[in-house]
Amino acid sequence: MTDVQTLIDGSDFDVHYQPVLDLRTNKAFAYEALVRAHPPEFKNPLVLIDAALREGLMGVLGRAIRRKAVDDCRDLPLFLNIHPNEFEEGWLVRPDDPIFEHEHPVYLEITEGVPLSHFSLCHEVLQELRGKGMCLAVDDLGAGYSNLKYIADLNPEMVKLDRDLITGLTIGSRLHTLVTKIVDLCTALGAKVVAEGIETDEELAAVRATGCHYGQGYLIARPAFPPPRPRLVGLEPPTLH
Ligand code: C2E
Ligand code: MG
Ligand code: MG
Repeated sequence: MTDVQTLIDGSDFDVHYQPVLDLRTNKAFAYEALVRAHPPEFKNPLVLIDAALREGLMGVLGRAIRRKAVDDCRDLPLFLNIHPNEFEEGWLVRPDDPIFEHEHPVYLEITEGVPLSHFSLCHEVLQELRGKGMCLAVDDLGAGYSNLKYIADLNPEMVKLDRDLITGLTIGSRLHTLVTKIVDLCTALGAKVVAEGIETDEELAAVRATGCHYGQGYLIARPAFPPPRPRLVGLEPPTLH
């Protein structure tokens, strides 16, 4: 049984990348970094993150993941998942954080499913990060806590709609009306929208019809290393270096 410190010390993990497709240009807009630990007990990233939190190592783990992502993707815009704990502990504002070396846009994804416990403190950290050129993305909108107020408060550049809203989406359904209105609402609040978890052609067509800007999901590409090209037939491949 590996512990998280041993995993970090031994760099016993990879980072896989999943393209975020620009639905207007059909090109990869950016890549989301997703941790892939080698020890089988940490195969599920959420199990790894829970263990890191229990051991007080979320900040150290998050930084090690960002180090790898920035090194792997020198020429690509990145979406990086950040646990609220990392904001609360001030990890992201250390001047030597790898994100500040990245020469392309960085979107910091904050999952809506985990409430920020010290919101005002985080607000200051987030404003500081903004001032340093970082973009914010609210992850998993529509899963668990449906906290739309979060979007008004955080003023993110990007909102990611959870797979729950996308699975089985068909044009003309009530769910489609709901998703279209959420896209309109986010747009009115100044955020672009990513639909996550697109698995079928029908879901992709329905997502396009909502006016959503970006899409992500197994249909387009599974997370992989090296960063995979979007694989839809008829799509122009992105420029990879
Ligand atoms: P998330 O940030 O919402 O990431 C999306 C998850 O959905 C990923 O699971 C991805 O592999 C999966 N996914 C993408 N497209 C599809 C699809 O079409 N169908 C289905 N069924 N799934 C799809 P993964 O990699 O297991 O990560 C789960 C969660 O763990 C992430 O959810 C994120 O909250 C967290 N996580 C993953 N990597 C990191 C990390 O490096 N740092 C932090 N703080 N959290 C991470
Ligand atoms: Mg995410
Ligand atoms: Mg998500």
